[in-house]
Amino acid sequence: MPSIIKADFHVHPDYSYDAARDTIDEYCERAVGLGLSQICFTPHYTAVPSVINKFGFVRKNGEKIPVKSDWLGDYIGEVRRADDKYRRQGLRVFAGLEIDYCPEIHEELKKRLVEEYKIDYMLGSVHLVNDDLDIMIPSEAERIFTRIHPEEFYENYFREIEKIIDSGLFKSIAHIEGYRRYGAGHNPAYADNASIPFAHFARIFEKLHKKGMTLEINLSLFRDGRNVTNPVEPVLKLAHDCGIRKVAIGSDAHRLKDLAISIDSAVELCRKIGFGVFSLQ
Ligand SMILES: [Zn+2]
Ligand SMILES: [Zn+2]
Repeated sequence: MPSIIKADFHVHPDYSYDAARDTIDEYCERAVGLGLSQICFTPHYTAVPSVINKFGFVRKNGEKIPVKSDWLGDYIGEVRRADDKYRRQGLRVFAGLEIDYCPEIHEELKKRLVEEYKIDYMLGSVHLVNDDLDIMIPSEAERIFTRIHPEEFYENYFREIEKIIDSGLFKSIAHIEGYRRYGAGHNPAYADNASIPFAHFARIFEKLHKKGMTLEINLSLFRDGRNVTNPVEPVLKLAHDCGIRKVAIGSDAHRLKDLAISIDSAVELCRKIGFGVFSLQ
């Protein structure tokens, strides 16, 4: 039986400009109360050139500042202080980032995030497809999902996922069925288990496994009452069949009350499929 611990590996503290003002310390306090043994923060890091003027920001001391400005030292310092403080209460605290990838910024990500700042957890995320429209923003999602056929969408989407894996920079992939949230409103196929693009997933999971990466079970759909994991159980079973043995659980909380949302059901699902829960050190 693989070890099962409670860990939330996808949390947006106040450094994320799209998150509430809840601080690292407040999240850690709550994590202890919820009985978590690890928490990993993942502010957005969007430096893709075509959208950097739109999304390339973080929040520091209440101010919205460019993602490439000087903030990572403060962020990591705050995480390390929290780790020192909460370790005694049984909680380990890590500094991750949720990153939009494209090959044009590979060297920059490698030098700054991996080599210089030694980010603990590089979480790769595909928000942008087709002319860099964001599938997580309703108005942009509408332009994508009403214009192109799901088959074409999947080709484009999974090509972006493969770039993340091939880059060798990342530990995990976030919300791999990210298109479910807004795609289903325009085409029910995106939320229909009978239409899951299993062939794409099998190719992706074999690659993930070969690279020694993990996969995220994202719990953000529990926030709005849809009550399904992302990816859903049949996709997770395929991941297990492809050799993946550990998954990272992530609430994707953007405010304190969503920390570790429905984590018990995710842990139970891991146990049922046979996954261990990913953790660091
Ligand atoms: Zn995301
Ligand atoms: Zn996120």
